[in-house]
Amino acid sequence: RAASSYTVPRDPRFAQLEQQDLDYFRSVIGDTGVLTDPDALQTYSIDWMGKYEGKCSVALRPKSTEQVSKILAHCNKRLLAVVPQGGNTGLVGGSTPVHDEVVLSTAGLNRVLSFDAVSGALVCEAGCVLEQLDAHVGGHGFTMPLDLGAKGSCHIGGNLATNAGGLRLLRYGSLHGSVLGLEAVLANGTVLDLLTTLRKDNTGYDLKQLLVGSEGTLGVITAAAIQCPPRPAAVHVAYLAVPSFATVQQVFVRARRRLGEILSAFEFLDRGSLELTLAELDGVRDPLPSSAEPFYLVVETSGSNAEHDYAKLEAFLEEVMEEGLVADGTLAQDSTQVAGIWGLREGISVALRHAGPVYKYDLSLPVGKMYELVEETRARVAGLPCRVFGYGHLGDGNLHLNVSTPRYDDAVQARLEPWIYEWTAAQRGSVSAEHGMGRMKAECIGYSKPAAAVDVMAQIKALLDPNLILNPYKVLPRAALAGNVP
Ligand code: FAD
Repeated sequence: RAASSYTVPRDPRFAQLEQQDLDYFRSVIGDTGVLTDPDALQTYSIDWMGKYEGKCSVALRPKSTEQVSKILAHCNKRLLAVVPQGGNTGLVGGSTPVHDEVVLSTAGLNRVLSFDAVSGALVCEAGCVLEQLDAHVGGHGFTMPLDLGAKGSCHIGGNLATNAGGLRLLRYGSLHGSVLGLEAVLANGTVLDLLTTLRKDNTGYDLKQLLVGSEGTLGVITAAAIQCPPRPAAVHVAYLAVPSFATVQQVFVRARRRLGEILSAFEFLDRGSLELTLAELDGVRDPLPSSAEPFYLVVETSGSNAEHDYAKLEAFLEEVMEEGLVADGTLAQDSTQVAGIWGLREGISVALRHAGPVYKYDLSLPVGKMYELVEETRARVAGLPCRVFGYGHLGDGNLHLNVSTPRYDDAVQARLEPWIYEWTAAQRGSVSAEHGMGRMKAECIGYSKPAAAVDVMAQIKALLDPNLILNPYKVLPRAALAGNVP
């Protein structure tokens, strides 16, 4: 089931788990936090796509930072490799073991610690589920500054560890901007308490930013302080059918000009993505059933004045339709229709998983080049049993290129990689826009970062985790770390 070609040999430096380790873990977190039953371990060993599977013999569910610290100090001393895991919704094989690493789940760290209804500063533990946090701050008239299809399962710690982007990055920016503070435990058990809620703090290097996007390789995030924006009083969504990708770009330019500060999302999907999602998922409806255009857009506004915002969106829609940029369009009339359109857009990843194995590429590219790559990929896999889909966060220049196949197949992968990465590098794009490098792209960072930068990253890794026990085989190439192996 799992994809074989991303496997790497087990690092022989790492110890094997022994009874004395289990005894120690039980003494720290109690019997119920130490999972060893093979059935229970299955969900911790395999990723959301069913693509990356390891064989852990233990998963640990600590409930406090102190417990995390004791576990890591022990693993560091014993040279036991550790994979931190949040909601296990990551899409690059970062959250599951490659071999027999100890899984350190943050699911037990799930308390909201405080919320300041004046500043909007939320302080919570790393294992809080994003959707639940949004409901919590929603009760105070605020919203989380990020939203993604996996919100019902992903943890805020996992979001920070991957620097997740999602559907509203266009409006609220990246998590690097929204994170006010962090608490993390380093590999040797040292607790880094950076959990302040200050907007401004220029005291030395900003260490929390190193943890954001580090994918569990530099430390385990145990708590976070997030700046939450006020919940928009008025949210409107338009769904548009567009005749070409060139026109999609024109509509984007027009949306930014006409909708200005209330534009909060600009997402695109191709016709194949639409048809697949309608076919695979019950309950998803086609917002424009009589349209057969090659591209569709989800345009969202978030503002404070419902009438004013609706009028603006309506005027924008009339303008782009009159000019022939948009072939057909509809405005959601109530929250059910808003949810229906978002359900379609967010359902694409789920539909792809339903359809079977999928090679997923998450790329930053100049907007004008985004769909060219989808078309060239289609030509490249012609003759193979592949279906190619393109969708993504167009407003952020982020393409999700997906190749669906009946089974994970090294021949298909060899056709796609490294060609897709080379193509992306030639545009000075990024081989990971928002999903991270994980296990999938650990050897690929050179396509988007110069050797000198990768070398500095390896030195930082060795400084914070000298025994390299945290999430081995992920993010950085083996050759870059080789000089730092103790
Ligand atoms: P996990 O998958 O458990 O872990 C991800 C990585 O972070 C791993 O390397 C893990 O070791 C590390 N990690 C987890 N928790 C911690 C911690 N506390 N401390 C240190 N390291 C940790 N991503 C986007 O960016 N945008 C999207 O729009 C988006 N949409 C998605 C839609 C669907 C349906 C799915 C399944 C996934 C989507 N993703 C998206 C990917 C994924 O949801 C995000 O990457 C998410 O942020 C991962 O959170 P998680 O808690 O599930 O982390």
